[in-house]
Amino acid sequence: MSPDEYERTEPIIGLEVHCQLRTEAKLFSAAPAEGASGEAANTRTAPLDLGHPGTLPVVNEKAVELALRLASVTGCRVAERSTFARKHYFYPDLAKGYQITQRADPLCYDGQVDVPADAATEAPTARPDGRPRARPVRIRRLHLEEDAAKLVHEDGATKADFNRAGVPLVELVTEPDLRSPREAALFLKKIRRQVRYLGVSDGRMEAGSLRCDANVSLRRRGGGALGGRVEIKNLNSFRHLERALRYEAARQARRVERGAAVEPETRRWDEDTEKTRPLRDKETTLDYRYLPEPDLPPLVVDEAMLKNVRASMPERPGERKKRFVENIGLPERAAALLTEDRALADFYEETVSRLYKLTGGGNTRRQAERAAHFLLNEGRRVLSEQGVPIDALPVRPQQMAELVYMLLEDDLPGARAAAEVFEALLAGEGDDPEQIARDNDLLQIGGGREELAPLVERTLERHSKNVHRYKSGKTELIHSFVGEVRSAFEEEHEGTPDPKLIREMIEERLN
Ligand code: ADP
Ligand code: MG
Repeated sequence: MSPDEYERTEPIIGLEVHCQLRTEAKLFSAAPAEGASGEAANTRTAPLDLGHPGTLPVVNEKAVELALRLASVTGCRVAERSTFARKHYFYPDLAKGYQITQRADPLCYDGQVDVPADAATEAPTARPDGRPRARPVRIRRLHLEEDAAKLVHEDGATKADFNRAGVPLVELVTEPDLRSPREAALFLKKIRRQVRYLGVSDGRMEAGSLRCDANVSLRRRGGGALGGRVEIKNLNSFRHLERALRYEAARQARRVERGAAVEPETRRWDEDTEKTRPLRDKETTLDYRYLPEPDLPPLVVDEAMLKNVRASMPERPGERKKRFVENIGLPERAAALLTEDRALADFYEETVSRLYKLTGGGNTRRQAERAAHFLLNEGRRVLSEQGVPIDALPVRPQQMAELVYMLLEDDLPGARAAAEVFEALLAGEGDDPEQIARDNDLLQIGGGREELAPLVERTLERHSKNVHRYKSGKTELIHSFVGEVRSAFEEEHEGTPDPKLIREMIEERLN
């Protein structure tokens, strides 16, 4: 293959995403699904999970409901009737000798999720409006299945921990529509955002709640297969996904270039060497001997259930952002940032509604913007410095509303002081923002324009000579004016005025 031809090849990528559903119980038994990782081994199991004879599976309806939520945001169709199957293989993590999954008739199918097309993959890349083109990724199927147990290798022995056995998963399988490692990562990110937002899964990749197998093959741009499909198993971070695909696509390209065949095979990503390695070759391709599961009736989803899912469905991020812009009056960007995370959006919305009660109305748009601004800037900065996740925030929306109210009323000299109060609230140094501000001498009692205006006036009159020099270029004199207004204020009032505000007022007066 000439270099030219090499340029004209492209990776074809399809993903199989596994996502742990956020249910209390397991998919087919009443054992707790939560805390499956982290708890002492084999403390969260029912006889069914251990493969005891005579036990029978019962489908957890909550798991079905969560899968249907995901189906709804991925545009999938829902099968009125779907069936379960046994997938057989022998491994010590599978006590029954088979995994219950869906095969012939999955719960959901034929969906689509768009991601921004990778600009590097093809030209022309931009739409007429300059935004990146969308890459439509078709979802082939989305089905329910149970997770296997976990093998722990320690102290020279291998132990089986069945806490994970039977935990509910959805598997989402795409068509091979992705065209670059970057697009694959963007796709998985989008899925993660959606499952988290909708309460379908905690989406924690480091804990194994979200993981994926990536399939990649090479073809000539515009068509024509160049090699077999390689499946890379069990990728558990966006970084690994992208790197593994990049490595694998390059490895295949090198083979094609020197005329060698790319064999279909299963590989794994080795984090240490940053290479993919063969896992098993095609000689040992497993025959799973799929059989219909005799212990479970077909899963029937009726209109009442769909209605229930729609009714209990949380608002989607896109809809919420639109509402923040249209009803609350936020700028696009702030609305996008606030709705990125559901806990943040919830906290913000509750704060604003309490803030409106404190202000009694008025310019609600300005109030909402002030709250958004504080939360997205100082608020997030303090949270990240202290390592406090927004969904574990010990500060209540009412307290945040009071804090923002103080800012709006000029009771605090600025956002910096508000951040200090926020930090104290986080540290549990008090309950009442105003009291905290007072205790820490942050309160600006009457340090607003009204109180400052006569002092500014007086200072400038008293120093008319310096005002003249200031006007002819000695602008550093402004510091002395600010200092004087400030001390005058402190003599007459309690607290400290905001030097920035004083400076601003002096400049307004002089320029
Ligand atoms: P199997 O049933 O053997 O697992 P499938 O054809 O169902 O194989 O595909 C499994 C996954 O592999 C899907 O995500 C699909 O998009 C992807 N895939 C299929 N063909 C290709 C290909 N030629 N290149 C890359 N990925 C592919
Ligand atoms: Mg597969």
